[in-house]
Amino acid sequence: MRDSYRDVIIIGAGIAGLTAALYTARQKLDTLVISIDLGGQLLMAPEIQNFPGYVSISGFELIKKIEEQARLYGAEIIFDEVVGIKPEDKHYIVSTRSGAEYRTLAVILAFGKKPKELGIPGEKELKGRGVSYCVVCDGPLFRNRNVALISWGHHSVESATTLRSYANRVYWIFPGEKPVDDEDMLNEILSGGNVELVANAKPVEIRGEKMVEAIVVENRKTGERREINVDGVFVEIGYTTKTDFLKGLVELNEKGEVVVDQLCRTSREGIFAAGDVAAIPYKQAVISAGMGACAALSAYNHVIGLKGGRAKVIADWRKVEIPKKTGKFFLKI
Ligand SMILES: Cc1cc2nc3c(=O)[nH]c(=O)nc-3n(C[C@H](O)[C@H](O)[C@H](O)COP(=O)(O)OP(=O)(O)OC[C@H]3O[C@@H](n4cnc5c(N)ncnc54)[C@H](O)[C@@H]3O)c2cc1C
Repeated sequence: MRDSYRDVIIIGAGIAGLTAALYTARQKLDTLVISIDLGGQLLMAPEIQNFPGYVSISGFELIKKIEEQARLYGAEIIFDEVVGIKPEDKHYIVSTRSGAEYRTLAVILAFGKKPKELGIPGEKELKGRGVSYCVVCDGPLFRNRNVALISWGHHSVESATTLRSYANRVYWIFPGEKPVDDEDMLNEILSGGNVELVANAKPVEIRGEKMVEAIVVENRKTGERREINVDGVFVEIGYTTKTDFLKGLVELNEKGEVVVDQLCRTSREGIFAAGDVAAIPYKQAVISAGMGACAALSAYNHVIGLKGGRAKVIADWRKVEIPKKTGKFFLKI
């Protein structure tokens, strides 16, 4: 069943999608955001210290502010999972798991990625309470504490280097004999004296009442178990990007991320992408927000072009009338 027509449909209500919605709605495009949840990865970030304008803010608080701002200009948000996008003339048909279908002139893909999880007891319960999936983001919160890092390969060097500069002690847990092949790099990291290698190890449980207190690892060779007392557990074993339904529609890279140009355009006209779902090297909140704005302005120009309308925008700093509604966030008249 075709539910309705929109100028633009944004998939994902993380920071990229909500920022895009703020921009398209402010430009008076009929904007619908479809998302599984509100907030995405930022819900897992108890404290953010590197978002401009805030010395410290929780991911949830930041998302709520952007959500309110997007809704203020008229963006609509519904909770559902997008399972397909089909081109039809100049439109796209976006279908969801609940069976709804929407017709739109432009689509912004902003459905991010998810860190891979260990899937062991204690992990879910202590997520955001000592269990983290982002060293760059949360490492500084563990100054002078003991932490475990579960990671290996080239990327893990950066994480180990960052963690050892903050933490009192870092237990570097990995499955093989060495976490990385580069001996020089490894020796440099170990030279500080506060990194201990835990080789041939398989994490089996994270323990703690309210916060992380320990991690239990099993030796893959001997089966022997060891409990290591730590305040934090960093899991960096990769990410998953669920872009299977985009195959054949837009160009994806070898990791399944959506390839974009500098205007956040994908290989298919009318489909744009922003944030962590895109094939860009830096995955951070402020970058996702910036890309959301970029994708939105490109989508606006595309829609206006199809409607044969006004001059295109290259910036969005004109003043628009703030909707005059009452309510805690609205201006009183
Ligand atoms: C633990 C942790 C801490 C972090 N801390 C920081 C920090 O301090 N500073 C910083 O800059 N960055 C931090 N990051 C990184 C930052 O959170 C991400 O770069 C940013 O949130 C990505 O935003 P996004 O909108 O692109 O994607 P996401 O946040 O991944 O949001 C994607 C949204 O799309 C939805 N979705 C997914 N698939 C579908 C679908 N098929 N249909 C509909 N909806 C869908 C999801 O439910 C979600 O709402 C942290 C990340 C983690 C995991």
